[in-house]
Amino acid sequence: MSHQFQFRRYRLPLRVPVRTAHGRWAEREGVMVRLTDAHGAVGYGEAAVLPWFGTETADEAENACRELGRKVDDARLDSLPAGLPCLRGALAAARASEQDWPPRHESLGVAALLPAGRPALTAIAPRVEAGFRVFKWKVGVGEPADELALLDDVCAALPAGSKLRLDANGAWDRRQAERWLERCAERPVEFIEQPCWVPRTQGEAAQRRGDDMLRGLAGDWPTPIALDESIASEADIERWLGAGWPGLFVVKPSLLGDLPGALQRLETARAAVVFSSALETGVGARRALRAAFAWGGEPRALGFGVWPLFADSRFDGPHLAPFIRAEDVRRLDAEAVWNALN
Ligand code: MG
Repeated sequence: MSHQFQFRRYRLPLRVPVRTAHGRWAEREGVMVRLTDAHGAVGYGEAAVLPWFGTETADEAENACRELGRKVDDARLDSLPAGLPCLRGALAAARASEQDWPPRHESLGVAALLPAGRPALTAIAPRVEAGFRVFKWKVGVGEPADELALLDDVCAALPAGSKLRLDANGAWDRRQAERWLERCAERPVEFIEQPCWVPRTQGEAAQRRGDDMLRGLAGDWPTPIALDESIASEADIERWLGAGWPGLFVVKPSLLGDLPGALQRLETARAAVVFSSALETGVGARRALRAAFAWGGEPRALGFGVWPLFADSRFDGPHLAPFIRAEDVRRLDAEAVWNALN
């Protein structure tokens, strides 16, 4: 089938700059796409690129859109290179039928984000009050020993039955990771996300050593380890599944060109999956959250406690609350986001 194709590059200021292990972020860049098929059905998608994770840049996505032209057929869309995962995912979302979304859950829990360091302690009470029971604490930002000294206070501030996730964004070396894993063994820590990480830019041999280190840690300690930075593509998911990874997979749907294929593989392998935001607008959020609600494996609290995120609230997904309902996802209006980019 042939489609009319349009795209809009966006650069949206954030409400408050986001500090990540990969630098400070003041605006979100990406490309929004719109396809109209021969029957007049319109679909939207968002290429929310994260280049430091290994995706294309916003420039690369935009250039590829320019080359597609105003009219594209299915064969052309199917032949986009793997090096454009976010754009491929966006175009797949824009082609997906509106009807085929069977949510398996009425609502899913959301993990509340705790700031790095001591400020986490005062951040817990208001979130508990709001109803959150899953918390994610950013670690690996300050001195590992100082942060480790706070762990017991953080755990003590959580109500009984809560779960604590730690996200180190790959900041630790093996020795530091072991000290944390040793301490976490007897505490209500659901998992440690990406304790160590060797970026692919350091070459294959270094990456293999990094993978071995993660596998070693997962085998030596009882607290599960979740891969986030390590799985930026379908190929990464395939590699870790093939290696029999015993821990969790943090899946950012916006980074995957073939999201249904990747989720099918994970589901078949009975993998433990945590769905997570790539700081996308409501358009990307719609696709990502639909996937989370349709996931057939064990449901886990969503890593989507990110909105309100944008200075202009018309671009936000469902605002932070202890639960996101299927109804909230259904209500996300891709057309309104597209129009707001005018
Ligand atoms: Mg993470």
